[in-house]
Amino acid sequence: MSPILTDEAVVLRKTDYGETSKIVTLYTERGGKISGIIKGGRSEGGKRGRVLDPLNLVQVAYYDKESRDVQTISSADLLEGRRRLREDPLATMYAFAALELTLGSTTERDPNPRLFRGLKKILRLFEERREPPSTTTARYFAFFLGEIGFELPTERCAVCEKPLGAEVGYRSTRGFACRSCVDREGSFAPFPAELFAELVSLKSGNDAADERTFSGRRALRFLEQYMGAHAENYRGLRALEMANDLEQEQ
Ligand SMILES: [Zn+2]
Repeated sequence: MSPILTDEAVVLRKTDYGETSKIVTLYTERGGKISGIIKGGRSEGGKRGRVLDPLNLVQVAYYDKESRDVQTISSADLLEGRRRLREDPLATMYAFAALELTLGSTTERDPNPRLFRGLKKILRLFEERREPPSTTTARYFAFFLGEIGFELPTERCAVCEKPLGAEVGYRSTRGFACRSCVDREGSFAPFPAELFAELVSLKSGNDAADERTFSGRRALRFLEQYMGAHAENYRGLRALEMANDLEQEQ
């Protein structure tokens, strides 16, 4: 018998499997990303199936068998639904972008409790709606880059390592440089001061109050480019494209 594990998890994805079952991908606190099957998840009036809707925070129990790609989920309880968030299609799409990023750029069974806690916190932020949802996605994106080893350094100059001021230059292969290094080296392009301030504030993890003034969309475009330049397999986020389309319609 394989052991039964109990863990907190964020539901990243849910798909139908066969006539009555569902396969879910979860980001768990202690096990990292795992896939699980809920047998009969659709036949019981879908109740258990809805507990495992993407964006939810759940407590799951599953039979952990390392040799298998898909674990069997024996129970799932809802800890936090996202009722308020789901009422807003645009915010929901931006939240899905955070899930899609996690789904596409993490490895199965590679636990990162910090990443789990960050994702959990960001989903609460989406639910509270204290800032534009694009800002919340940008905030998560900046955090996520650090967690997968591609931290965007905004504190110190890439050349002289002195603390960066408001005026910086950027070069994709080097990062950000201070004004005097930019003048001396000549290979850094000027970088918009406002965008740099946004990136710094996204990374600071401060209360959302300071960030109400910007939408995060420009920061997201930059972070996507940065991700594309560092993570080989990154092909963009479908949910982000859809959120952009939605936003243009509004
Ligand atoms: Zn410098």
